[in-house]
Amino acid sequence: MASVILQSPVLVLNRLWQAVNVCTARRALTLLFEGRAEVVYENGNGQFQTFDFSGWRSFTEEIDSDESVNSVSFKIGIPRVILLAVFDRFPKKEVKFTRHNIFERDKNTCQYCGKVLDRSDLNLDHVIPRDRQGPTNWENIVCSCIPCNTRKANRTPKEASMRLIRPPTRPKWRPFMQVNLRTNGHDSWKHFLDVAYWNVEIGQQLE
Ligand SMILES: [Zn+2]
Repeated sequence: MASVILQSPVLVLNRLWQAVNVCTARRALTLLFEGRAEVVYENGNGQFQTFDFSGWRSFTEEIDSDESVNSVSFKIGIPRVILLAVFDRFPKKEVKFTRHNIFERDKNTCQYCGKVLDRSDLNLDHVIPRDRQGPTNWENIVCSCIPCNTRKANRTPKEASMRLIRPPTRPKWRPFMQVNLRTNGHDSWKHFLDVAYWNVEIGQQLE
């Protein structure tokens, strides 16, 4: 039973109180114990209190709840949201190399002519053609409209006298929304996710 609770998801906020990740309760308690995070607790009035390990332990040990775990010597509540004490040390997940994320990176824009189009009117183009050993990765795949794709054919941009709007790179935004937060998250996440909804780049939550 305790081990199931320890797997429950905890929302991770950075020092700016922005949602950056989701971890397990086990990981959250470890970070809390090591002084690398604090618990964020919504006190019912829409206000947030923070607790360090000992503060959280004394705050929750009186509460008889199934949202706590008993260790040999003490009982502690399971946090739902934690705030990292150290700036940005939480490991970032990489942006998945998916069709969806490539369209997101390129903002549904043909990288040769600059037209913004529906996804159904865009292809993925190997900048250096595949049969010239062009790899299938962030640095060699771009969105392209069908006319540009046809015109470029099996050539490099230089051979086709075409120019990329910008060189393709691996995106830097954080894909924490890959977890389906809206359905799997806890009520107390709502405030932070609503804020995140407006502040993260569009598409992260759609995958
Ligand atoms: Zn085009």
